Amino acid sequence: MALIVHKYGGTSMGSTERIRNVAKRVAKWARAGHQMVVVPSAMSGETNRLLGLAKELSPASTTPALLRELDMIASTGEQVSVGLLAIALQAEGLEAVSYTGWQVPVRTDSSFTKARIQSIDDARVRADLAAGRVVIIAGFQGLDENDNITTLGRGGSDTSAVAVAAAMKAHECLIYTDVDGVYTTDPRIVPEARRLATVSFEEMLEMASLGSKVLQIRSVEFAGKYRVPLRVLSSFTPWDIDIAEEARSGTLITFEEDEKMEQAVVAGIAFNRDEAKITVLGVPDKPGIAFQILGPVAEANIDIDVIIQNVSHDGKTDFSFTVHRNDYARTIELLNTKVVPQTAATNVVGDPKICKVSIVGIGMRSHVGVASKMFRVLADEGINIQMITTSEIKTSVVIDEKYMELAVRALHKAFDLDQPTG
Ligand code: ADP
Ligand code: ASP
Ligand code: MG
Repeated sequence: MALIVHKYGGTSMGSTERIRNVAKRVAKWARAGHQMVVVPSAMSGETNRLLGLAKELSPASTTPALLRELDMIASTGEQVSVGLLAIALQAEGLEAVSYTGWQVPVRTDSSFTKARIQSIDDARVRADLAAGRVVIIAGFQGLDENDNITTLGRGGSDTSAVAVAAAMKAHECLIYTDVDGVYTTDPRIVPEARRLATVSFEEMLEMASLGSKVLQIRSVEFAGKYRVPLRVLSSFTPWDIDIAEEARSGTLITFEEDEKMEQAVVAGIAFNRDEAKITVLGVPDKPGIAFQILGPVAEANIDIDVIIQNVSHDGKTDFSFTVHRNDYARTIELLNTKVVPQTAATNVVGDPKICKVSIVGIGMRSHVGVASKMFRVLADEGINIQMITTSEIKTSVVIDEKYMELAVRALHKAFDLDQPTG
């Protein structure tokens, strides 16, 4: 008998019919003798609907007081889901009990709308499991030290599930979603994308951080830190398929370097449309300038991603970086008021219609010429590269948003990701 955590995403919980299916699947696992903890998301579209209501009342505000209320509102989506799933499980003849994040409790820091889990008290959950109950815990939510409700950022139920699995030392955490695993790239953009039977933890971490939303990045971080066995699989297979077959399906995140002889150089392609580019023109090229520009941005709690400083002409240089698109207007305003006067910069310009496309693979460590091949493929398609950033196992480029799909498809083909591997 093993302790297993299942996580079901919004689409998998999207209607009462689908919730019934989730209940039947969970009941199958429970009847096979496993202790089951289930972490569902809000029904699909619900979190957007809830946040949309708040936006109608206050379109632009991002004050801490408002963010607190956003979490109050958004967390209700998951509360409905856990109750519905508990009822569906009881209808299947199982004993099931649902908890919100704060009933467990799941403790987080106080960064409303993007809180980080700090601890999970599993005493109550363990007692229920010992009494033979299926326990359902609301994803995405927690409680800060002042007992304010917090949420973990969009897609955060993945992180709730992995964190629960880590805290309870679960045998495995199974992330059930609307695709049957992790693909070489988003199968919605490239129909030829292939499912990966395994993906290394490091590759998954990069893919998630670079935009593959199949797993929230923090869930992958948790899995790595606590070595949680993690698998992504489909909730749309018939619920009554053979349990051993189901347990082998999907994509396993592996922690050991893959022993396969033929390690693909590039494992996958990620893309991200959420960023915007900002350039501060004509700043003096002298020590401290990066800090003078980015210091106030960091102080305003705005995350910075790709950074480029150009060579100087006549003692002046241009400085570009990217921020989340939601922070675009705020950053430009901040630079105009706090940075331009102090640095005597000539101007601040920006482009919110960019995207970042990345190739990821641990094979890149031992192969040269991978990045240059990427640049050639993009050149052949007439796509201009605006920024480049690399690490040991990834190369990212910032390009015009309108070329995103073309770039992803061309790279997917050029790196043979549509071909079965040996
Ligand atoms: P859930 O609601 O179950 O959490 P998400 O919508 O958050 O589901 O994540 C699943 C989606 O992630 C898929 O429908 C797919 O479009 C997208 N996706 C992006 N990149 C990938 C990838 N590399 N492999 C699989 N799915 C991906
Ligand atoms: N319901 C939340 C969201 O839509 C959390 C999740 O689905 O993982 O972002
Ligand atoms: Mg998700």
